[in-house]
Amino acid sequence: MPHRPFQRAVVTGGAGFLGSHLCERLLHRGIEVLCLDNFITGSRSNVAHLIADERFRLIHCDVTTAVQVHGPVDLVLHFASPASPADYLRLPIHTLKVGSIGTLHALDLAREKRARFVLASTSEVYGDPLEHPQRESYWGNVNPVGPRSVYDEAKRFAEALTTAYRASHGVDTAIVRIFNTFGPRMRPGDGRAIPTFIRQALSGEPITVTGDGRQTRSICYVDDTVDGVLALAGGRHPGPVNIGGTEEVTMLDLAMHVRGLAGSRSPIDLVDSPVDDPRMRRPDTAVAREALGWAPKVPCSEGLQRTIAWFEERLAAGRPRGGAPGPVPSIGA
Ligand code: NAD
Repeated sequence: MPHRPFQRAVVTGGAGFLGSHLCERLLHRGIEVLCLDNFITGSRSNVAHLIADERFRLIHCDVTTAVQVHGPVDLVLHFASPASPADYLRLPIHTLKVGSIGTLHALDLAREKRARFVLASTSEVYGDPLEHPQRESYWGNVNPVGPRSVYDEAKRFAEALTTAYRASHGVDTAIVRIFNTFGPRMRPGDGRAIPTFIRQALSGEPITVTGDGRQTRSICYVDDTVDGVLALAGGRHPGPVNIGGTEEVTMLDLAMHVRGLAGSRSPIDLVDSPVDDPRMRRPDTAVAREALGWAPKVPCSEGLQRTIAWFEERLAAGRPRGGAPGPVPSIGA
């Protein structure tokens, strides 16, 4: 992380998929970590391997209620929010509350502690984009009353609030717009496309691809996303900055790729598309490259292989956390 010698970080949503990787990486860099989570979609098992480290503390906390931390804090990474469509459609009001009230509390903490604040925003702020690839200057095409709006609009509000705290209260804020990220610790049943495809491929079930399968996404391996988030945290840039993979794939190709890498003979079934599912997604990463010196390094195939290997180990150990599949796989995040 350039520029900033952080000593004590708060990670909200730290027991989730991305949050747990962030906690791990911060500890590796010698930074003390307070992980705040209410476990609504995350799990203690994601950070169980960190508990023995005396610089790590796991605190059960719902950030929509309050965020209170004793002692100094110089970095707040606000990652608490359901992120899989299956989760946010099941938790619509909670998703709106964590994006609004939860963000307010996390910003208040950063203000009180004079800490750098990083908001985990999302490519979903671009909605079903009319501009391709998506630059940070694009305002998006979001249906405010569609089912996905609970997530998209919560994140758009969170961006507005973060910007207002910067302008009105002088908080040192940054906004990262994360595109579809995958890797170990995703729940096999969380409804997102990659864990769903892997679970289906490994169990020999049909792999379910939505719509005609020609919709595209650009996927990024978790290690690269974490590098991007920490590069932003460690600098002065306010964002928004896109962090995401630049290899754009159709969902059908992705399903076939996963099937091949998993050595599976699962058939591929086309199923109904979710409402307002974006047709295409690819970040323009010029800002990340120029301002942060960031570019993804892990090729998709390698990231998928690592993820499949992790799922295989979990299944072999009989610990397929997340259990039942979501009804319709979607790659939204
Ligand atoms: P996740 O569901 O695995 O993690 C979210 C974590 O937040 C969970 O541990 C959950 O228990 C916690 N949480 C939710 N509400 C909370 C609350 N009120 N108080 C405390 N903790 C709460 O999802 P993820 O994929 O790790 O996503 C993490 C963040 O990154 C989210 O803000 C998401 O919007 C953003 N993001 C992720 C992706 C991606 O591809 N994974 C893409 C774009 C943005």
